[in-house]
Amino acid sequence: MEDIRGNLNKINEEIKLCAERCSRNAEDVLLCAVSKTRTPEEINIAIDAGVTDIGENKVQEIMDKFDAVKPVKWHMIGHLQTNKVKYIIDKVSMIHSVDSYKLAAEINKRAAQHGLVMDILLQVNSAEEESKFGITTDETEKLIKEILDTCENIRIRGLMCIAPYADDPEDIKVYFEDVKKQYDEFGKIDHPRLDFKYLSMGMSHDFPVAIEAGSNLVRVGSAIFGERNYNK
Ligand SMILES: *Cc1c(COP(=O)(O)O)cnc(C)c1O
Repeated sequence: MEDIRGNLNKINEEIKLCAERCSRNAEDVLLCAVSKTRTPEEINIAIDAGVTDIGENKVQEIMDKFDAVKPVKWHMIGHLQTNKVKYIIDKVSMIHSVDSYKLAAEINKRAAQHGLVMDILLQVNSAEEESKFGITTDETEKLIKEILDTCENIRIRGLMCIAPYADDPEDIKVYFEDVKKQYDEFGKIDHPRLDFKYLSMGMSHDFPVAIEAGSNLVRVGSAIFGERNYNK
C-alpha cells in the first residue's frame, strides 16, 4: 500500500523549497492531486491529509467517484469532448483543457443552463516547441477574444500546458518559461470575465522546474498515489 500521506508531506516540502529558491511563497502554489485510476478510498486518504483539489482526466471517472469522495474541488484536466460537458458542468470547479471555441461554447451553454459561471484555463502550447498538445499563441489570442465576446458564463482564469516528456526536466524549462510569458501577456487583457490567477503546469517528474518557471498550480498524480496500473 502506497504511503499517500508520506508522499504528500514530501511533495509539499519540495514545493516549499522550490518556491523559496525563487523567492515565492509556497502558499502561492496550489497542489492539484491527480487521481486517475485511483479509488475513492485512496482519494479520501489524500483529502484527510490536507488535499483540497483533485484532478481527473476522464469524465467517466469524475462521475463514478464523485459521490464517494469527500467534499473537495474537482478539476477536469484532460481532453474534454463537447458531448460530455453536460455530465460534469455542475461537478467541477475548473476546466483546464479548453482548446477550441466549439468546446468553450458548449461549456458556456451548459453553465448558463445551471445558472453558473465556469472557470476555465486555455490549454496552450509553447511557441518555442513543436508539440501535439494545446493551441498556438495566435490561436490563443483569437480564442480569448471569441470567448470574451460571446461566452457570458465563462471566466478565463489562466493557462495550462502539458510539456513534452524529457528525461531531464531542465531541458523543458524554456517551454515552461515561454508559456509563463504568454500568461503574463494575456493576463494584462482588461475584461470583467478575464481574471488570470492560475498557471497550471508541472506534473510528478517536472513540477519543480515548472514552479521555477512560474507555475502556481501543479498537477501531481503518481508521486502521490504511486505508479498507475491501467490494467487493474
Ligand atoms: C495524469 C496527468 C497528470 C499527472 O501526471 P503524473 O505524472 O502522474 O503526475 C497531470 N496532468 C494531466 C493532464 C494528466 O493527465
